[in-house]
Amino acid sequence: LSSTYTAVNEPMLDYAKSNPETAQLEKTLEQYCDPIDVPIVVGDEEIRTGPVQRQVAPFDHKRTVATFHHATPEILKKAIESNLKARIDWERRPLQERCDIFLRAADMISQERRMNLIASTMLGQAKNVFQAEIDAAAELIDFLRFNVQFALKTTSYQPISADPKVTLNSMVYRGLEGFWAAVCPFNFTAIGGNLPMAPAIMGNVSLWKPSDTAVLSNYEAFKIYREAGLPPGVINFVPADGPTFGDTITASPHLAGLNFTGSAATFKRLWRQVGENLDNYINFPRLIGECGGKNMHFVHPSADLENVANGTVRSAFEFNGQKCSACSRLYVPESMWPQLKERVLSILSEVKMGSPLDRENLVTAVIDAKAFARIKGYIDYAKSNPDLTIIAGGNCDDSVGYFVEPTVIVSTDPKSKLMAEEIFAPILTVYVYPDSKVIETVELSKSTSPFALTGAIYVQDDAAKAQLADAFKFHAGNFYINDKSTGSIVGQQPFGGSRQSGTNDKAGGPFYMTRFTSPQSIKETF
Ligand code: GLU
Repeated sequence: LSSTYTAVNEPMLDYAKSNPETAQLEKTLEQYCDPIDVPIVVGDEEIRTGPVQRQVAPFDHKRTVATFHHATPEILKKAIESNLKARIDWERRPLQERCDIFLRAADMISQERRMNLIASTMLGQAKNVFQAEIDAAAELIDFLRFNVQFALKTTSYQPISADPKVTLNSMVYRGLEGFWAAVCPFNFTAIGGNLPMAPAIMGNVSLWKPSDTAVLSNYEAFKIYREAGLPPGVINFVPADGPTFGDTITASPHLAGLNFTGSAATFKRLWRQVGENLDNYINFPRLIGECGGKNMHFVHPSADLENVANGTVRSAFEFNGQKCSACSRLYVPESMWPQLKERVLSILSEVKMGSPLDRENLVTAVIDAKAFARIKGYIDYAKSNPDLTIIAGGNCDDSVGYFVEPTVIVSTDPKSKLMAEEIFAPILTVYVYPDSKVIETVELSKSTSPFALTGAIYVQDDAAKAQLADAFKFHAGNFYINDKSTGSIVGQQPFGGSRQSGTNDKAGGPFYMTRFTSPQSIKETF
């Protein structure tokens, strides 16, 4: 390996019925018939505390996919100690050696372990095979390989020395003192795998707190890292109750950083806790957050209608809208709406909902009871509010799993809470604007939500394109022109947003890795 190592995006398998991967997946799914017991792992030790928690398939209440255990504050403290002990050797290892371990993990996922990640993501997080392939195979492999490439690149810079015979300047790139806390979301196995791993590549140690609703797939990824050669204690796997975890990590003087993906509310709570503890820390902890979104597709009168219709249905409803990047509000000019509406409804009439085990189902079940109740609350609100008209979907059924029909709602109130709040659901709210009021509507849309994660404009007219792109410069960390707001690819569209959407550190891009180093500048005079 050298600083010239070049990663390439993992090719995706297509799971055609007659392909070998399809048979392999069927076989692997059988291994998950009975629940897997997932331990807490601290150093070399597997810990089972009881009382036992359950991860249940979102699409089938009767199917427990995993049992697991919550780490107590004592176990979390022990895990921090274990991290700190492992760090002594880990940060001394050459970067090359650390990178090799994660490249080996990438190869294992690409080859013999791919189906474990796919199957556990399908069952536990209700992704169909194509959605699981994009996430748990391709994106996780990409994170591993591109992080290595960027780690090598960002540490290749050495400062100049005017006359190296007299004075030699150099930089040594080290991980931060202390431990990182990785707080992971349910919606992407790849993000779960990335949050503790990116700091580790740079010589840090981390605590991996998976989401309770993604424990199984995250554990599969953790096991692969260990089998690829990651020494015990560098990453400790600690499912835990959120507040217990937050209280314990923020109380430790050794907290070096927080790598977080989840809601803005939780990120703020953790940030406040860090603020309260500032006098106790050895270093200022680094806080990296990827939070929510209320992403829009903004349609200009010059847009290509077919492109808008297809992109919007995919962005709003794939994986049930449970992506931070999903389109949840659509702004359409009056002149285009009748035709666009017809086209969206026609595409939607073909969209199937059901178990993720059936590849035909684009929409599956939302993640859990809490999400279901929240989403139903919004749909009930729409049903009772005269400003809102449901034109597709609107039914929720939790008798077998947490199913919410893909729902399209037209709002005559541009500031309706359905246009403003993140719902994280298969709900699209549409606002129809007068063709003569493009710029006014853009300004209105920007002031409707506090988020700035992703966004898309659909426009053919060049002058309008430039004007709209300028208008949205601080309102979408990931901005798409004539393309949907989802589907960023590692190394191609580094991901993240600002405002209430996070610290915009751009996972999947080169500068992300510099957040995990604490370089030392050295001047030696001869
Ligand atoms: N990177 C994903 C995308 O562009 C979204 C990640 C997320 O939901 O946090 O669709």
